[in-house]
Amino acid sequence: MPELPEVEHARRQLDAWLTGKTIAAAHAPASRLLRPGTPASLEKALVGKKVRAVERRGKWLRIVLHDGTTLHSHLGMTGKWVQRAAKEPSPKAEKLRLDLAGRHPTVRLLDPRMFGRLLVVAADAAGTSVEPSHLEGLGPDPITDGIDPAYLARELAGAKQSIKERLLDQRLLAGIGNIQATEALWRAKLDPRKRGGDLTMKEIRALASGLRWTLERTLAAQADEEIVYLGEREAKNIFKVYGRAGEPCPRCRHTLTRIIQGGRSTTFCPSCQV
Ligand SMILES: [Zn+2]
Repeated sequence: MPELPEVEHARRQLDAWLTGKTIAAAHAPASRLLRPGTPASLEKALVGKKVRAVERRGKWLRIVLHDGTTLHSHLGMTGKWVQRAAKEPSPKAEKLRLDLAGRHPTVRLLDPRMFGRLLVVAADAAGTSVEPSHLEGLGPDPITDGIDPAYLARELAGAKQSIKERLLDQRLLAGIGNIQATEALWRAKLDPRKRGGDLTMKEIRALASGLRWTLERTLAAQADEEIVYLGEREAKNIFKVYGRAGEPCPRCRHTLTRIIQGGRSTTFCPSCQV
């Protein structure tokens, strides 16, 4: 399942594939990804337009066209942008195909389970991109805005919820998911059950540094490859503790434990995460 590093990976690829190029044709079969929108309205909004930039906010990708129209893409559970030769047939999972002017490969969005979303946001009268409501209330983006321990300390003050559950709240930091939160807490040697409001400044700084560490590490592991999500057949688990309950802790060799918090699983080391 794509989290922040996987979506940033997609942004970098889309930027390399699309920026400066013109969309010659677009084909989107009817699917529940289009909310709101129809295949016809989506195609009409894209065709003939040059891509100005590919941006990201949390787990939302934004393909910005020269007239300010923006295609927003959320990868959901299984969404993936790929590059394919024009002659390659469209698989059933393909939810959007973009053909570019000139001799460039096509760019396609695959989403077999269709938990993703795809929508066009029109520019305002001045040609400026409009910020749609799904981006409202998102916290700072850990990659583009950085992670400020003083901000975290202010936001966590008085929090009764566990630090693990606080980290999954997109209003705190945009894009942090279960995997990245689990890895960061392990790196920071923090018990995921600790109340958010009980963290000391030293622990908050360790957490910020743990988050940077896991985001950079995950991004580096995905460089230049077609992305494979954990849970897909060919996937290797590159993570230190996520999905490794019952295995020895890579730091202290104590057996890793799995617990459920707020309906989500957390793997942690009961010996060195205190
Ligand atoms: Zn340990």
